[in-house]
Amino acid sequence: MRTPLIAGNWKMNGSAELLEAFGRLFADAQLPTPLEIVLHPPFPYLEAASRSLASTPIKLGAQTLNPLHSGAHTGEVSGRMLKEFGVSYVLIGHSERRQLYRERDEDVYDRLLAALSVGLQPILCVGETLEERDAGRTMEVVLRQVSRAMAPLEPQQRTQLAIAYEPVWAIGTGRTATPEQAQAVMAGIRDYQAGYNSELAQQLRLLYGGSMNASNAAELLAQPDIDGGLVGGASLKAEDFYAICQSAG
Ligand code: 13P
Repeated sequence: MRTPLIAGNWKMNGSAELLEAFGRLFADAQLPTPLEIVLHPPFPYLEAASRSLASTPIKLGAQTLNPLHSGAHTGEVSGRMLKEFGVSYVLIGHSERRQLYRERDEDVYDRLLAALSVGLQPILCVGETLEERDAGRTMEVVLRQVSRAMAPLEPQQRTQLAIAYEPVWAIGTGRTATPEQAQAVMAGIRDYQAGYNSELAQQLRLLYGGSMNASNAAELLAQPDIDGGLVGGASLKAEDFYAICQSAG
């Protein structure tokens, strides 16, 4: 009943040529249905992405946004601009933004509200560090991140977002969470949401991210509470990303 979502996060990587390769491969794609696919290239590639992906089912995503609509904020991009450009999804609170650019839970919430206010669909990213996992604090950390960002949201706003669980220790390390580890956290997030509203909890899409690739995607996506993937490194090869999309059937 939940449409699977496979999202590719290029981070600060990629090229116009790679977008063309995606365009060629996905134009003739034989993909499982239902399935939603979104690609999050760096901002300067959005223009090329909108052309190269025009005849594919891939939607446009951004990697972050500024919480304000406009103003004297050199170097920043607003949600309104992204929406005007045809972007559908935006990542919010990726662990790299939290760690490298000091985004706190409050900043994540502000960005979430800004995205919702202009009709962008946020993918809220959460996840624990290895130190937190080893200390047995995984659920505490993940639910804190989820609740600080979502607690003030109205029911209608909650239906618009997806949550990506990305254990920090699995990102870019080749060390994927086991399907059981990922499922346990996803089930915890869904249970937490059910405490708020069980119907909305059933609708909420939960994505796994962290070294997902063409070999491990099927097993992860087969878990009952995993509704998709947020793919970093493996989204930088069109064939690998395509294979992951095939696994979502
Ligand atoms: P990797 O797939 O490279 O581990 O990255 C995951 C990620 O951070 C996606 O947002």
